Amino acid sequence: MSYTLPQFLAHAIALESEAADRYHELADMMEAHRNDEVSALFRDMVRYSRLHHDSVVARAGGTALPKIGPWEYLWRTPPEAGGDEAFDYRIHPYDALLYARENEVRAMNYYAEVERDASLPEVRHLAAQFAAEEAEHVAALDQWLARTQRP
Ligand code: ZN
Repeated sequence: MSYTLPQFLAHAIALESEAADRYHELADMMEAHRNDEVSALFRDMVRYSRLHHDSVVARAGGTALPKIGPWEYLWRTPPEAGGDEAFDYRIHPYDALLYARENEVRAMNYYAEVERDASLPEVRHLAAQFAAEEAEHVAALDQWLARTQRP
């Protein structure tokens, strides 16, 4: 689908806000594991998601944005989680990183798809920029995965 700018901004805001919440949960979990390094990484990711979220909100300015509900591109609950919001606190750091990576890839693909389908140059340009940012997150998680022991 080809988004209007307000539609696209609303989706980006929802995606980044969901990502921030999930990273926050993941950071708490890694703390429970006493894995301070990976916890710190996830806290950084919380900060990046919030910065991204805030910059998109700022960009929207006073424009009224459509309300959107949960949708397929939002972060997915990991299969090992018991309910909708609960992660399993025993999740291993490696699996947590892998889970985060999958969701970053999903965000990256989402933005790339918006870019591809956009008929408005402003949407296309922003989506390309966001896709590039997500690609950086994927690369950062790959580096962490490479130096984290498999469970
Ligand atoms: Zn990201």
